[in-house]
Amino acid sequence: MSGIPFIVSAPSGAGKTTLCKMAVDFFPDLRHSISYTTRKPRPGEVDGVDYKFIDDAVFDKMVESGEFLEYAGVYGKRYGTSGKDLEALLDQGLSVILEIDVQGADKVRPVLKNGVDIFILPPSIEACADRLRSRGKDTPVEIEKRLKIAEDEIKKAPEYDYIIVNDDLEEAFEKFKSIITAEKAKTERMLGAVERLFGASVKS
Ligand code: ADP
Ligand code: 5GP
Repeated sequence: MSGIPFIVSAPSGAGKTTLCKMAVDFFPDLRHSISYTTRKPRPGEVDGVDYKFIDDAVFDKMVESGEFLEYAGVYGKRYGTSGKDLEALLDQGLSVILEIDVQGADKVRPVLKNGVDIFILPPSIEACADRLRSRGKDTPVEIEKRLKIAEDEIKKAPEYDYIIVNDDLEEAFEKFKSIITAEKAKTERMLGAVERLFGASVKS
């Protein structure tokens, strides 16, 4: 049984990395898809854990060799998801969070037919600004660049299966957990369990 790809997008500072890390810690069968990026690590970020940090030449080679399921230019840097890495996790029956931007979500939606996409909405764009400033890991110029396109990103929220407002973090996490739990229990994903009981094929 293949795991479920959960596609999570949000404007910068909405709290998506925080929520995704909480979810990966909570669900034993959930993993984080580690993207490749040409951006430099922030203080505290670890290569191979937060991202695979690569330079433009390596990124170009990976594009040429068709390694990416999707890739996009975001806030002036490039980010991509390896199709091979993702498949390896899904094939083990693990569900995977793809924390990708709205362009990436547009690209993977037609490919990952069993994907579930979730948009994390901030209570306001000002809240994103405050959170990015208090996170203290981006320059004011970088923060400005990110906030500038927040509205355009938010306009894409209606295209997602679910929208979670991340105002109170614990409340938002409860919703995130509920979505993951409910999606795992969907009938189409549980037919294998029914078949195992009766040893026969069950038609949907
Ligand atoms: P993103 O990945 O969407 O850019 P992060 O998860 O890095 O955002 O969160 C940005 C900052 O906001 C972090 O310092 C995080 O601890 C904080 N944060 C996340 N969710 C909330 C929340 N609900 N209320 C207040 N601060 C939050
Ligand atoms: P950050 O630099 O804050 O870690 O991420 C910047 C943006 O790039 C976020 O919207 C994040 O979701 C997105 N991103 C991270 N990895 C990928 C990826 O593999 N593909 C795409 N399309 N976007 C990504």
